[in-house]
Order: sequence, then structure tokens, then C-alpha cells
Amino acid sequence: MLSTMQDVPLQIRRLLEHGTARHASATVDTATPGGLRRVSYAEIGVNAARLAHALRELGVGEGDRVATFMWNNAEHVEAYFAVPCMGAVLHPLNIRLSGDQIAFIADHAEDRVIIVDGTLLPLLAPLLPRLKTVEHLIVNRAGGADPGAFTAPKGVTVHDYAELLAGCPAGYDWPEVDERQAAAMCYTSGTTGDPKGVVYSHRSIYLHAMAAAMPDAFDLSAHDKVLGIVPQFHVLAWGLPYAAFLTGASLAMPDRFLSPGPLAAFIRASRPGKGAGVPTVWQGLLAHVEGDPDADISSLREAVVGGSACPPALMDAYDRHGITLLHAWGMTEMSPLGTVARPPVTATGEEVRAHRLTQGRFPAPVEARLVGPDGVVLPHDGESVGELEVRGPWITGSYYRAEDPDRFHDGWLRTGDVGHISPDGYLTLTDRAKDVIKSGGEWISSVELENHLMGHPAVAEAAVVGVPDDKWGERPLATVVIRDGHQVTFDELRDFLATRVARWQVPERWAIVTEVPKTSVGKFSKATIRACHAAGEYD
Ligand code: ADP
Repeated sequence: MLSTMQDVPLQIRRLLEHGTARHASATVDTATPGGLRRVSYAEIGVNAARLAHALRELGVGEGDRVATFMWNNAEHVEAYFAVPCMGAVLHPLNIRLSGDQIAFIADHAEDRVIIVDGTLLPLLAPLLPRLKTVEHLIVNRAGGADPGAFTAPKGVTVHDYAELLAGCPAGYDWPEVDERQAAAMCYTSGTTGDPKGVVYSHRSIYLHAMAAAMPDAFDLSAHDKVLGIVPQFHVLAWGLPYAAFLTGASLAMPDRFLSPGPLAAFIRASRPGKGAGVPTVWQGLLAHVEGDPDADISSLREAVVGGSACPPALMDAYDRHGITLLHAWGMTEMSPLGTVARPPVTATGEEVRAHRLTQGRFPAPVEARLVGPDGVVLPHDGESVGELEVRGPWITGSYYRAEDPDRFHDGWLRTGDVGHISPDGYLTLTDRAKDVIKSGGEWISSVELENHLMGHPAVAEAAVVGVPDDKWGERPLATVVIRDGHQVTFDELRDFLATRVARWQVPERWAIVTEVPKTSVGKFSKATIRACHAAGEYD
């Protein structure tokens, strides 16, 4: 028997219409050189309509890919709504990838239009002659971001964002789209092999926004203002713009002002209560705040930290500032949520901290299972360690025009992450499958060693990788960044670790580095560390 319910498609346009009408006075703050500029959700709605008209005039039709090459700012939020709502496909390009990777991705996605921030045009311009499918470039000069004179390659027409929108009507007759239609796409950063595309649907983005906004996830409402540090070019900024329009939460977007000093100044000016970003960003901000008596991030109460494991020392340090770091796990293939680590209501004392340090619990629509090396599904007993597999309505079932059968298993996505799940549903990741250190038939968790090392007062950052070893197959190499004004010897660090992990896990190989190399989205780049080691750099 079928239900009597209306079969109304889940469309991003509903989030836009809801946000602009019912939360018209919510705002997007964008950082500028001397402060910030503020745009209301009502104005974002008008500009999204204008942008959709302009794109249609340029010949953008249903399913066409419109790329962005932008920081987090109001115009990028406008594109987030205009492009999918008009039936086209939003494709944020990761500005931090290599030129070759960006060219590969733009060609592979067959982007027809790129909206680019003026400040990023110098980075994109040299690549343009290589982009085979791009016909239009729209330059956003808002906030004084003028790139100066620029000549486009043959076949590419250049437009000014504000001028293009100026003549367009303030309303748009948004089409009814199939909820399964492509709305946006993102590519994985491709640390091994070519980057792979994930295509999100209207339905997946809508459902993900609802889950992300819930109290046990990001807990968003119209009372909030969220600092979106996680780039809009990375997994749709964890879906924040969509969750914000759904709930009426305001947004604080730092644009290019991401280094700790300017970021702290933006926080002081905009005063967000919540935030979202990878651990390295929170680490940098903390170091700045602790060294600058004028810094004021006191508006922040809670911040989501994900993308890589949150070091316990970082969580504790923010606790001392009265800011709760909320640990979350996810991936591009999962839109990205994942898990969120809010402790159970029954937890008390030390249990609270222990639960907050796990990767967290899955929302109802995400199913998870652990699979052992022999393909056997393992129990959620908090001890059995296996590869995590997931399935759900916002998890990809394939890659865009790329075969990768190894990543899929009977309709489940293989995450490549290794860990265990407790009987009450908390996921603890011990490593990425490719980062686990296999020493003499035993596994060493690189993340565990890093977390302990980053708990040492003299250590600012630590990354541990497995390197080839004649006797054991692999052994850990620890690279550490020493905190300014501190001194420590490798023997002291070894003794420190030996009281916290089994002695055989303590690394013999050590290197002091000025900075741990980072990936395009600010995570430790273990591939770079391994390559440096192979080139003899840390001997
Ligand atoms: P990339 O693969 O390019 O890093 P993603 O951002 O999709 O792109 O990365 C997803 C991966 O990041 C996850 O599979 C996991 O290994 C890691 N990750 C994300 N969040 C966490 C977390 N909270 N703790 C540990 N690892 C995490």
C-alpha cells in the first residue's frame, strides 16, 4: 500500500526561498582589508536571481557546469544557490591544487564558465589557455579585489561580476528540477592518482543540510553566526551555506584573510559564536591568540573541527579559553558528514572528554560497518579494528566518469579509514589505511603517536609516517615542529612516548622540521613527508 503523502522533490531552491524570505535579515559577513562587508540573505537572494539570469544569457543550460575559483565570501554563497537552482551544476575548484591538477579537473568536469575572485585571477590566468571547455570568465571585484589589466586567451570572454548582474531582474522563475539531478560536484584532492569527481544531487544536499543543522550535529538556528573557515572549494564548505539558509544562521566568511592575525581580527569584528575548520587552522589561531594580548575571539563558544583527527592537546587548550571544539569526521564522498562527537547524556567526568575525542556518532541516515582484512564484518565492540564502510542518501555510489571498483563493496563505500566502533556507536579512527604503520606484523597508529607528541609542552606540531625498514618492514619516523622558545631532545621525546604507548611503538627515527608539509586543504601531507624521507632529507 502506498502512502497518501505528496511526492514533492527536495530542491535547493526551497532552501534559498526559505532563507531569503523567512530569514531575510540574516547576514553574510565577508572579511575585507580593513574590516568586513555585510550582505543580508534577502540581498543574497536577489543577487542569486540576477546571477542566474546572467548565466542563462551566457548560454548556461540545464546540467552545464559552472565552476568557481573563489575564497569564502558573499558572492560565492550567491553562486552556491544560483547555479544549482537554475538547473546547472556548481563546481568549486580547489585553488590550492597544482596547475596540472586544476587543468585536469576543469577539463574533466567540462566547466563552461568560471567565476573567479579578482585576487585569485593571477593564479588562474596562466592556466586559462590550457582549459579546453571554458568560454566565459566572470571576475568578482567585490571588496576592492581588483586584479588590474588582464587579457583573456582567445575563445574566453571576460565579464565583471557586478556589471553583469546590474542589468538583470531581481527575481527568477526557478525551474522544478528532479531531486536526483546533479546540483554540485567536488573532486577529491587526489593524493594518489588523478583527482576523482563526486556529484551531489539536490536531494543529497537538502538531506545533508537537515542532518548537519541538527542539535546533535552542528546545532544551528537563527540565533547563530557561523565562521566558515573550511573552504567553499572543499566539500561545499561542509554544507554550511545550505544548512545556514535552512536554519537562518548567519555566516562569517573570511575571504582570503586566513592567516591567524587577520582571521583573529575578522572574528573580533564579526563576532561569530560558532565555527568550522580543520585542526591546523585552529592550531594556528590558538598560537596567535596566546601571543597577542589584543586578540579577542571571545565570541566563539563552539567550533567544529574535522578533516583530520583533532589532537587532544588542541581540544584541551580551547577548553581553557571557554571554546568547545566539536570533533567531526567525514569525506568528500560523504558530502561530508560523517560523524559528530557529542558525548552521550549519561557521560560524566573523564568520560565526557573521552567521548569528545572519538570521531563521534553517525546520524540515522548513515549506516556503518567495519570489515576485517578477510572481508568479515566485525562487531561494534569498541575493540575489533577494521576498515570502515558506509552507505546512505548523501554518500556517493560511484565517481564521475572514472572507474574505481576497489572503493565500492556490495553497495557500500570503502572509506579507506581504519578504526573501531563502541557498542554505543562512537567511531574511533586509528588511522587511514594507507598511513597505518605495519611494523613486524603489528600495526602502529600514526595518529596515536602524533596526538601524544602534540601533548608535549615543547611540541607545536608532529606528524608520524611509516618508512621502509630492513628488519621490521616499516618503522615510524616522527617529524616534529618545536614550539618557539622551547628546547627538547629526541631522547626526552622518546621517554615521554614510552610512558604512553608500548615501547616497541616508539620511533627510532626523528626529524625536526620548521613546518609539517600540508595538503591543499591544510591537512598533514604524509605523502610529502614520505617522499622527503625517500629523497634522503631526514637522514
Ligand atoms: P582528502 O582525501 O583529499 O583528504 P577529504 O577531505 O575527503 O579529502 O578527506 C577525507 C578523509 O579525511 C577521511 O577519509 C579521513 O581519513 C580524514 N578525516 C576527516 N575527518 C577526520 C577526523 N575527524 N579524524 C580523523 N581523520 C579524519
